[in-house]
Amino acid sequence: MPYAECILRQSKGAKSGPMALIVESSSVNVIALALTIIASVAITGILLVVGFKAARFLLRRAAGLGRAPSTLESHEAASADLQHSKTSLAMPALSLNELLLENTVKSPTSEILINIKTRINDLAALVTDAHTALARDGASGLNAAARKIVEGRRLTGPEWRKYLAASGAAAQVGAQVNAALLKDVAPLVSEILRLLAAKPVDPIVRREEGYVLACAACVESAVTFRPSNSGFCARNISNVNKTICWDGDAGKRLGEILAAGDTHALLDYFASPNGAHCPAFCPSCHRVYCAGHYALAEEWSGSWYSAGYVTCVLGHEREYE
Ligand SMILES: [Zn+2]
Ligand SMILES: [Zn+2]
Repeated sequence: MPYAECILRQSKGAKSGPMALIVESSSVNVIALALTIIASVAITGILLVVGFKAARFLLRRAAGLGRAPSTLESHEAASADLQHSKTSLAMPALSLNELLLENTVKSPTSEILINIKTRINDLAALVTDAHTALARDGASGLNAAARKIVEGRRLTGPEWRKYLAASGAAAQVGAQVNAALLKDVAPLVSEILRLLAAKPVDPIVRREEGYVLACAACVESAVTFRPSNSGFCARNISNVNKTICWDGDAGKRLGEILAAGDTHALLDYFASPNGAHCPAFCPSCHRVYCAGHYALAEEWSGSWYSAGYVTCVLGHEREYE
């Protein structure tokens, strides 16, 4: 076909012949191109959404939003769980209320007998309060119940025994009262032991004043290790020797453990034969307690302080200084 005729047919809208074929072929290509573009746009959109989600996930991880809980967070979560655990303690008849002292005290009308009975009533009230705290509040009552029991230990400690011996009320009375008290607090001590065992070990907390290790029975500081020129010092549980220090190798080792924040290593260090002596640490419990959760007793020879004794929440008595 001459070139002039071809132009003429195209201008007249001819739909047959070689030029029509070319026109139809071009339409198919345009449709295919459009479909390809649409598919590309869709795939790109999907990839963008997936990429955005992946980037957001990585950013959240980098910001710490998706990280594993820290020791402190795990501790708080476990403590919160423990707060909801309740005990099913039943209040028994107290052996303290059934003591018959008239047969063992020689002069039943004396002031001594009144004092002994008052002391027994005080002990029975403490046991009842401790029981109420645990039965009503569960783990939340641990602090209060432990304080009551420790107070009971203090009221039957060395000072009480000394008073009985001096008053001629006989060791037999002291033994009777002690036996009754031990029997009455036994289920409470078991419950406190259960709660303490279920409680996570407190983390060492770094504060401005130093490293703080909390009491196992409350949230108070049992020991706050304050840096000194040659190691660390802390407020002692003793009312006589009020400060205790760790210097030299003990201070150096203590600093390493505290900086690592390893509570288990710290307790092990206190327990080891060559470890640092820490009065707040009960070796039998392998725990530390604040002064409020220890029954403290002092022994004096005149004006000379000869010994200090502590009894922990669970009844472990020791000479600590
Ligand atoms: Zn103990
Ligand atoms: Zn405490």
